[in-house]
Amino acid sequence: MESITAVKGFKDILPQETGKWHYVEGVAREIFTAFGFREIRVPILEKTDLFRRSIGEGTDIVEKEMYTFSDRGDEYVTLRPEATASIVRSYLEHTMYAVDTIAKLFTIGPMFRRERPQKGRYRQFHQINVELIGLDDPRTDAEMIIMLIQFLERVQLSQLKLQINSLGCAACRPPFKKALTDYLKGKEEGLCDDCRRRVDTNPLRVFDCKVAGCAELIDGAPRLITFLCKVCEDHFMKVRDALDTFAIPYEINTKMVRGLDYYTKTTFEVITEHWGAQNAVVGGGRYDGLVKALGGPDVPGIGFAIGCERLISLSPLKDSDFLKHPDLFIAALGDEAQTLAYTMSNRLRIRGVQTEVDYAGKSLKSQMKRADKLRCRYTLILGEQEITANKAQLRDMHDATQQSVDLDSLEDTIIHIVKGK
Ligand code: AMP
Repeated sequence: MESITAVKGFKDILPQETGKWHYVEGVAREIFTAFGFREIRVPILEKTDLFRRSIGEGTDIVEKEMYTFSDRGDEYVTLRPEATASIVRSYLEHTMYAVDTIAKLFTIGPMFRRERPQKGRYRQFHQINVELIGLDDPRTDAEMIIMLIQFLERVQLSQLKLQINSLGCAACRPPFKKALTDYLKGKEEGLCDDCRRRVDTNPLRVFDCKVAGCAELIDGAPRLITFLCKVCEDHFMKVRDALDTFAIPYEINTKMVRGLDYYTKTTFEVITEHWGAQNAVVGGGRYDGLVKALGGPDVPGIGFAIGCERLISLSPLKDSDFLKHPDLFIAALGDEAQTLAYTMSNRLRIRGVQTEVDYAGKSLKSQMKRADKLRCRYTLILGEQEITANKAQLRDMHDATQQSVDLDSLEDTIIHIVKGK
C-alpha cells in the first residue's frame, strides 16, 4: 500500500531541529519582553471576513492564497495567512484599549498561504509577529526596528539589508494613486492579467508583481515617496533620524509596497540575496487605519513579522549545537540489576538527570555501544557483583576515567557529579 506523505508545502520540523527553534523563540521572548511586549496566542482559524477586510481584496493573499472553507454550515473560515489581523481582532474583542491605550504584543506560530512551494516558501510556515498598537510617534517605528536588529544579531544573522519606505496616509495616497493609474493607463498591453485588472482596482499592487514585464514597467512609474504630505514626510524623516542615532544602516526602497493593503507611513523589510526573488526574512510597517477599519477606535499601530523558516535556514546556528545528550546510561546485567536500574533511572529523571537504561537484557558490549551512540556523558555498570559489593563503577565517557560509587548514596553522588551540585 502506498504510504501517506505530508501535504505539499507542509513540512515536519524534526526532533534534531527543534533545539534551534526553541533557541530562536527563546531569544525573541527575552528581547521583546525587555522592550515591554507580552505574548498573546490567537487562534489559527478566523472568520474569512477578518482577512478580506484587513489584508485587502486585491492582494495575492486574499485573491489566491487563503485556505478558506465552509465550516459545515454557512460560515466561511480561513486558516490565518498572517497574525496582525487576528491580534487586532483580539485587541478589539477584549476591549484592551479600555484598560490601556497602548498594547505591546507578540505571538509565535504557524501561518498558511497556498503559494507555489519552493526553497524558502512553504504553505505552512512560522512567523514571530510583534505588534504595537496605540502609538504613532516616529521614535516607536525606529524602536521596533532597533529591537528587530538586536534580535537578528543575537541569532547571528549577518549580511542582511534593512530597507525602508513610506507608504503615506489617507491624505497623500489618493493623488499618488491617480498619478500611478494615469501612468499605467495605455500600458496595459505590457502587464500580466492580474495587474491589468489592478490598474483600476488596486494599482499599488503592481509594484508587488514578480512578472518580468510588470516589474520593467513599474521601474518608470511615479513613486509614493515623492507624493508624501507634510505630516508623512516629517514622520519619515524623524524615523530616519532616530535610526541614525542608533547607527542602524538602511536603504530606502521606493518600490517597496508590501503585500498587504493596510500599511501606512513607515514600511520596512529585512532582505537577503539568498533565494532570488524570495528574499524577505522580515516584513513590517505601520498600519494606522487598520484598527478603525476593523470596527475599533481610531488608534495607530505598527508591527512586523519574522519568517522563522527563512531565518533559521540563514542562521549559522547548527542543529548539533542544541542537541542535549543523556547525562547517564545505566547498563544493567541480570534481573536484579534491571529492577534497580528501573527505580534508579526514574528517580534520577525526576530529579532532572537525563538517564537512559536498556531493558532488553542485551550484552554489556551492546549496551555500551548504545551508550556511545547516544553520546551519554556517564555510564554506570550494574551487575550481580556490583549489587553484592554495594558498589559500582561510574565511567566518564569523555575522558574514560572511572570512579567507584556506593550504591546506597548513588543518587546523590550522581546528581553531585552530573549537575555539579
Ligand atoms: P509577510 O507577512 O508577507 O510580510 O511576510 C513576513 C515574512 O514571513 C517574510 O519576510 C518571510 O520571511 C515569511 N514568509 C512569508 N510567506 C512565506 C512562505 N510562504 N513561506 C515561508 N516564509 C514566508
